[in-house]
Formats: sequence, structure tokens, C-alpha cells
Amino acid sequence: ERVNVITARMFPRLNTPEKMGALTQEEMEAEIRDCGLYHAKAKNLLGMCHMLTQRFNSVIPDDIKTLMELPGVGQKTANVIASIIYNIPALAVDTHVFRVSHRLGLAKGKDPLATEKELEKIIPREKWSDAHHWFIWHGRKICKARKPLCRGCVVVEECPFKEKNFE
Ligand code: SF4
Repeated sequence: ERVNVITARMFPRLNTPEKMGALTQEEMEAEIRDCGLYHAKAKNLLGMCHMLTQRFNSVIPDDIKTLMELPGVGQKTANVIASIIYNIPALAVDTHVFRVSHRLGLAKGKDPLATEKELEKIIPREKWSDAHHWFIWHGRKICKARKPLCRGCVVVEECPFKEKNFE
């Protein structure tokens, strides 16, 4: 939600890597100060803009490995960009995908990357991008971190999670 507020404010003015990359570290921090970890994020954003203009002709790369060379971009972000912008099948594992897939017994991996590999084995490739959104939506609305709303969950019969909540 916070990022959506910030981008709505920034993007009408700073709508190219050149324009954004021309800011100083202090100016970038002022733009995103209401976001957590703004100091590190400002540094990464500037590094990303400079790399995009200098190495990639201001075009966001279309493969996951190259995307991960951009400052601040890890596996999850690279997967999201590849799948949303370039329609490349990818299954980004964020906190919701991780929690829901583990509660449902679909994955046991200890970290997001291991979980991603497990989910990729059992979900058809053409569904990876949709599944990412389904897990997130379910995690945000129903299978919440603290108190999952198991009473209204459509997969309650199939779910093996031992600490279901029916309050
Ligand atoms: S039954 Fe409860 S724990 Fe299992 S997926 Fe549904 S909301 Fe999550």
C-alpha cells in the first residue's frame, strides 16, 4: 500500500530511469522517506537507474538472471517483473506464498527459493504467474498470518494445518 502511494506521487514526474537517476541520494530519500528502509532503498533505486541507462539502454531486461544483476533486485522481484511485464512464467515466493503453501502442505522448503522449486514441480508452468497471485490473495484475505479465517476457507477440508482457527 505504501509503495503504491509513493509511486503515484513520483511516477508522473520521475517517469524514466534518466530522470530518476539524476536525483541525488538526499533527493531520492526525500521522495521515499515514508517507506521503510528508505536509505538503502534510495541507494538501490539510484544504482538501478544508473545501470539501466548505462548498460541496458533504459529498457528493463526481460530475463530473470539479468534482472537480478540490478541493485536491490532478488529472485522474488525478478520473478514478479518477468511475469507481470514480460508474461514469462514465474512463481515469486513472498511471505504470503511461503506461509500459505506451507500451511497447505504443498511445500516444506526452509526458504523462498526452495519453496519456489517445490511449487514449480507441482503447479503446471502455465499457471505459475496466476498461482503467485492466488496464494497472495488467499494469504491476505483468508489465510492471514496471525489468525487464519479457516471457517470461511474454501480449502479447509483439504488443509492439513494443525493450528486452524475457527473463532
Ligand atoms: S484452512 Fe485455515 S490454515 Fe488452511 S489454508 Fe484455509 S485459512 Fe489457511
